[in-house]
Amino acid sequence: MSLDKRLGQRFLPYGANYLDWSDMRELREAIEQGVLFRYQTEGESVASRLERRVAERLGARHVLAVHNGTEALRLALISTRPRTGDLVHMPAVTFVAVAGAVLSSGLIPVLVDVDDSLSLDTTLLPEGTERVIVAHMEGTVAPLPHGVPYVVEDCAQALGAVFPDGRHAGTAGYAGTFSFHHNKVLTSGEGGLVATGDPAAWATMRCYHDHGSARVPGRYPTWNPDAHYGENFVTSEGVAAIQFQQFRHLDEVLAGLERHYAIATDALPDRTDLRVLPRATGDVKTSLRFRWESRELRDAAVASLTGRGIASWTLDKYLLPEHPVFTGRRSLYADGFPWSLAPDHPLLLSRDGFARTRDLLDRTLCVPLSPELCEQDHVLAVKALRQALEAV
Ligand SMILES: *Cc1c(COP(=O)(O)O)cnc(C)c1O
Repeated sequence: MSLDKRLGQRFLPYGANYLDWSDMRELREAIEQGVLFRYQTEGESVASRLERRVAERLGARHVLAVHNGTEALRLALISTRPRTGDLVHMPAVTFVAVAGAVLSSGLIPVLVDVDDSLSLDTTLLPEGTERVIVAHMEGTVAPLPHGVPYVVEDCAQALGAVFPDGRHAGTAGYAGTFSFHHNKVLTSGEGGLVATGDPAAWATMRCYHDHGSARVPGRYPTWNPDAHYGENFVTSEGVAAIQFQQFRHLDEVLAGLERHYAIATDALPDRTDLRVLPRATGDVKTSLRFRWESRELRDAAVASLTGRGIASWTLDKYLLPEHPVFTGRRSLYADGFPWSLAPDHPLLLSRDGFARTRDLLDRTLCVPLSPELCEQDHVLAVKALRQALEAV
């Protein structure tokens, strides 16, 4: 595909670039063996191999594959054995799936304001907070709160990110969740993983995700006398095989993003009304994040980029206090569950009613970085970007 086409037409540019028939040996194997259910065989399934590989690479103790990142969040939350209606603090700026996972688990989301880097502002968390979801948005490693028993790291957009102390995002809290949706660092269309360092939590998650059973691979599930109900989040060998293939390219993807990022940050126009949001060494450089002096300039930049066929996106859609799911507090349950469990509880936590955050989002613009381009194309892409920004 020509550079122009690649820059302009791809909705979002990450792992889908590594889908390649000649590289699909795990999928071929699964199909040749005629087994797409992970617990069909006593031998090691592709799903188990994937979990083992991811655990090794990220330094996680346990990993469980599920269908998507939202299920991974639900499993992490439910495994903490909450009471229905318990509060879960989460960032006010993230994908609405996080809120959906909380609500569908019978829990109540409290939207907490974010800091300048758009990460949850941990200083706002009240004393005694029990459950927090921290989201590492756009590959940016967010700080984790201290003294909270259950910190779930949402790494849907940050597979491969590393904290300043060297630990991988997703391994520093109670649990870490990952997504392989089309828009993420790697993709199998849909796909998810949950990681935890707590063996008891892992056992609980494994049981719940397979109908509450005490399954032995290769056998029909059995239920212990003290079994609780569960659901079916068991992944398919076909999806796990594609995730495995994708995962083989993780380091290549991360390196490609780093290279594009380095070339871009060196060559961007020097405008006093435009700032590039800094990225830490361990962040996954999925995008360049720009902050303009005004919303008008940001919108003019969107027009300038679009006119030149350069992809970009804004983060306005992530402002959850203004999302219909929150403003409407509707539910398919006739009694309004689970909103009905917290009729009077303030579900928003901000110093200024999210005014500063709204202003930050209004002025923010993201431009995707493309890991698969060669260095020469990175230089060309950055040149086109520079021209588009200079023209604003
Ligand atoms: C994509 C995403 C999710 C949901 O993951 P799915 O695999 O699509 O269910 C959750 N949180 C964040 C921050 C995401 O970007």
